Order: sequence, then structure tokens, then C-alpha cells
Amino acid sequence: TKIGIDAGGTLLKIAYVENDALYYRSFRSRDIDRAASWLTDHFENPAICVTGGKSHALAEKLNVPAKTVLEFDATTQGMTYLADQLNHPLGNDFLFVNVGTGTSIHYVHDGKQERVGGSGVGGGTLLGIGFLATDMQDYEKIIQAASEGNRENVDLKVKDIFDGSVPPISGDLTASNFGKTEILVEQPPSDPDILASIIGLVGEVIVTISSQLAVQYDADTIVYIGSSFRSNPLLQQIIEKYTRMIGKTPLFLENGEYSGAVGALLAT
Ligand code: ADP
Repeated sequence: TKIGIDAGGTLLKIAYVENDALYYRSFRSRDIDRAASWLTDHFENPAICVTGGKSHALAEKLNVPAKTVLEFDATTQGMTYLADQLNHPLGNDFLFVNVGTGTSIHYVHDGKQERVGGSGVGGGTLLGIGFLATDMQDYEKIIQAASEGNRENVDLKVKDIFDGSVPPISGDLTASNFGKTEILVEQPPSDPDILASIIGLVGEVIVTISSQLAVQYDADTIVYIGSSFRSNPLLQQIIEKYTRMIGKTPLFLENGEYSGAVGALLAT
């Protein structure tokens, strides 16, 4: 069996082929021992290729040799393959934004990627600030709670400042993330409101940096991947809306969070 693994900061993503079909599986990176036993128990004579920051930590725990490949190249290969399979070829020229624990932004031209930017603001920021603000730790619970939240209780919009008069830019834009200070003091927002606003902050920071880079590199399509979009339509909506606002086309690749693992699989 051919197996590709992307051992990331938060999640360990596995892609493997069985009977000509592609399968996915993920583990928390802190459960790396469990992942290694699952791999050992599940596959006879596997051909394994690993990528990601925790590649060596994982390879040491396997009882078979594992090849390693460079993460950024594996991710590019993997996402190109996934997009082709979905009949949505990415073309010659695009930007991709990997929203993982942190965020990494790459420009791809003629199949070659170049890392052109990034931000420490990513999925880890949601989990970290989310925990500090609400004491919640479970990803699915955090995302679920956020979906019931209302950012209007936390974030200051342009129209809140231009009270009654016509603003020079869309009143619906965020003027200040977490900026409704006076109201926050008077009436503390609920945990869901805070979590929804954290997702807003993360999404708006990422989309601002990404769209500026898309303009700089003259790329029409921005492909967004990474496990931070898992079960998180709110993050996707924010990024989608702002990407379209600057005239670029956002693309959220199905199973895109497995791009690195698929790229590693292709390199076995
Ligand atoms: P990395 O390669 O850095 O591990 P990922 O692309 O796997 O990055 O994304 C990690 C992020 O995905 C987390 O910070 C979190 O926001 C989100 N996430 C999605 N599912 C989970 C989960 N089950 N447990 C923890 N985080 C999750």
C-alpha cells in the first residue's frame, strides 16, 4: 500500500490508496504514538512518504523506512492532483493559502511554488485565543458555539462609526475587530459571540494579506486549503466574501487539508 503523511503542528494527515481508491485519515499530532501504531497495525509492506514539520518525529516511530519530501512542494503537487480529480484544474498561475496552525501563502507559476508570505494568525490562533476567552478546548465544540454567535456584539463596523451619515466605504466592513469596547464593558458578550469574532479576526487578517499578494502577483485565483476550514463555514464565508470584493476568485478545495499528504503519496 502507498501511504502519504503530512505530520503538521496540530494534525497528522494520512492519505492512502486501497483498491484504486484514495482514503483519508487524521490524528491529533499529540497522538503521534497512536498514529504510528495504527499505521503499523493496518498495513503490510507499506511504501511510506512523509512530509511536514513532524516528519522525523513520526519516521522514528515507524518500523519501516519512510521517505521524506519537502512540504511546500508536496502540498503544491497534492492540491494540483486533487483539483484535477475534481475536474477543476488550477491553471498555470495561482496563489494558494494554507490555513493550518499558522498561515502560509504561496505563488504557483508553471507548477513551481514560491512562498510569498504568511502570518502567525491561523487555526491555532482560533484555538488559543478561543481557550483564553472561553475556557473551551474542543475544536468541534468551539466551531459549533461560534456558529451560534453574533459578531455585532463585539466588532465595530464602519456604519457604527458613521452613525446616520453616509460612509465613504461600505458600512458593512469591519472598522475594528473587537472594537465595540464601550458596549463590551456595559454588556459582556457571550462565549459564542466572542468565538464568532475570533473567527472574523482570523479570516479578515488572512484575506487581507492574501488578496494584496494576489494583486501583487497578478493571480486571479486564490486557493484556500488547510484543516482550519473543517466544519467551519463561517471562516469560509468571510474569506470568500472579501476575496470576491477585491475581484479575485476564491476556491476552497474539497479535502484540500490533505494536499500535503496526497503530495507525499504521489512521491512514494
Ligand atoms: P498543521 O499542518 O499545522 O497541523 P492543519 O492544516 O492540520 O495544520 O490545521 C490545523 C488547524 O485545523 C487547527 O489549528 C484547528 O483550527 C483546525 N482543526 C480542524 N480539526 C481539528 C481537530 N479535530 N482538532 C484540532 N484542530 C482542528
